Order: sequence, then C-alpha cells, then structure tokens
Amino acid sequence: MSERKPIYVTKAFVPPIEEYTAQLRRIWASGQLTNQGPLALELEKLLAERLGVPHCLFMANGTLAIQLALRALGVKGRVITTPYSYVATVSSILWENCEPVFVDIDPATTCIDANAVESALKNGASAILATHVYGIPCDVERLAELGRRYNVKVIYDAAHAFDATYKGRQLLAYGDMSTCSFHATKLFHTGEGGCVIAHSDTDAAQLRLLRSFGHIGDEHFQLGINAKASELNAAMGLTVLPHVERLKRERGQVVAQYDAALATAPITRPQAPEGRVTNHAYYPVIFRSGEAMQRVKATLEADKVFPRRYFYPSLDTLPYVKADACPVSRSIAERVLCLPLYPGLAEGDVERIAEVVTSLA
Ligand SMILES: *Cc1c(COP(=O)(O)O)cnc(C)c1O
Repeated sequence: MSERKPIYVTKAFVPPIEEYTAQLRRIWASGQLTNQGPLALELEKLLAERLGVPHCLFMANGTLAIQLALRALGVKGRVITTPYSYVATVSSILWENCEPVFVDIDPATTCIDANAVESALKNGASAILATHVYGIPCDVERLAELGRRYNVKVIYDAAHAFDATYKGRQLLAYGDMSTCSFHATKLFHTGEGGCVIAHSDTDAAQLRLLRSFGHIGDEHFQLGINAKASELNAAMGLTVLPHVERLKRERGQVVAQYDAALATAPITRPQAPEGRVTNHAYYPVIFRSGEAMQRVKATLEADKVFPRRYFYPSLDTLPYVKADACPVSRSIAERVLCLPLYPGLAEGDVERIAEVVTSLA
C-alpha cells in the first residue's frame, strides 16, 4: 500500500493559477501595488454587496481589524469578552490598552453567555467583544438590547462567520461593528487579510483614517497605523470569491458524511439557535472527558491525521492576563477537537476518522 498523505484540520483553497494571473495582469496594467488600488476597492464593494452592509473596510489581517474596530468606536477600559476564542480576540483588547473582563460561555452554543454579560455590565464596561464561535451566532438580540441599555458598544469577532446567516441576515451585519479574518485557512480568504463592517459613513471614514496612518495627504488628524491590504491580496480575494458558494456546498457534503458516520459516537456538538444557516466552517466535537479526547487525538495522529484543539487553551488561563476562572470554557477547551474538514476530503477518510472517534471516545 502507498504511504498515506497526512490529513490536516484544514487545507487552504488554492484557486486555479490562471484565474489569479488574470487578476495580477490588472495590477501590472495599473502599476498600483497598494494604497486602496482599484482591486481593493472592487473587493470592498463586492463584499459589502454580498454581505448586505453599507461599508466593508479591507484590512491587512483579522487581528488589526479587531484593534481598529475597538479604536474607531473609542473603546476604553473594561471590555467584556469571551474566554472561548482564538487568542487574537483578547490580545487585541490588551494591545489597545484596554482591560479584558472574561465571562463564561453557554455550553450549548460555546458562545458568550448573555446572562453572564449582563451581570458583568453592572460593574461597568465600555464594550462587549464576542465571537461567533464556529460561525454559531451569539445571542445577538440580547446583546444588542444590553448594549443599548448599558450604553456600551457591541463588537463581534466574526472571523468564523463569513457567509453564515441568522434570521435571513448575514452574521457579519450584526453589532456596532463586526470584524472578519481572510486568513488563508478561512472559508473566504485573501492569503492574509480581514475586514471591518461599519454601518455609518462617519465610522467608515474613521476606520479609513486609522488604517492609513491617521492622515490624508499632508493633513494629519490623529494617531493611526498601517493596516492596509495590498493589491496582491485583493487579487487573491477577487479570485477566491466566485468559488465560495461551491466551497461551502462541498464542505456541506463532508459535514453530512461526518454526521452520518458519527451518529452513535458518544460526543456532543455545539448547537446553533433556530434561524441560523451554517457556512460549514468547522466540525467541532466535544468528548465526555479530556482523556477520551487525548486518546482519539493520539490514535488519529499515529495514523497521520491531525485534528486541532480549537479552541485551546481557554483564554482565562493565559499567563499574561488576570482573570476570574471560567469553568465552562475551561472544561470544553479540555475536551474539544475540530476534525479535518475541507472540500475534497475523501469519504473513506471521513469514515476512518469517524470510526476512531466512535470506538475510542
Ligand atoms: C483567524 C482568527 C482571528 C485572527 O485573524 P488573522 O487574520 O489571522 O489575524 C481572530 N479571531 C478568530 C476567532 C479567528 O479564528
């Protein structure tokens, strides 16, 4: 039998090279490599239309997108956030010299617990920064109501949520601002990249200014940074975007195979509320114990299959933050694995992975 190729948790979508070079030719024709060139502007317009939002600001990555959203909304001091996310959610808060206040998650959805948010708001805060984990919506109605009642901004790290919808509306359209990552491993990508969704012309202008050193021509308005994305990244985005529908469909087929093959496995899966249409971004499974998770992980790895502990660790355990313990988040972080999921993952491989999960969990 031939050597098996390793199977990783995901595989970046590499579009046909002719399609990318066709976009690159436009750059060679314009001679403009960055600074909001025609491709970046076109991508922003296409994304805003697709997402049904007034403004989509293309950024260098999804982490700077969060930082600029916090800045643009004037967030200071305490920021209520989730311990169950990628480290960039909390690192952005710290980098902006704000204080993260972790509250625990809802074990059903793995998103921030709105009741815990409400309790934390009683001690004061200037914003809520929550993650739509695995593209599952936070309790967006409740959080919007809390935002109004306590006069705090609601920002979503929607890095997992591209093209996921809730009640007929793109998840990225919720909140005072939402951010997305267009990193190579995400459903829609530009190699490296990200965006901030804004709802007013004033917010959009503020984000543009922050993204580009805080000045327009010779006139300097405020402290800014360089968070621009290049035309090369925009070219990748314009090439990948027309494939997204198909990529989602093919991911959905793999998801259906896992669902069937794992029907009797002693695992649980995070649940989305009614009204969500998934983007099939991830396939998380939660085991009964950390030992069961480790057993499955080691057995798969011995067979060159590399699921990922996502999210791990719970961010309230990071050595550089001081936080109250969040037991639900810690418990799930100890027991979760994201299984390999990408278009073209063979049915036989899905069955082989599901077999290990079912027999060893
Ligand atoms: C990928 C990701 C980020 C970071 O995005 P980059 O584009 O890699 O900077 C932030 N938050 C979450 C939840 C992510 O998954």
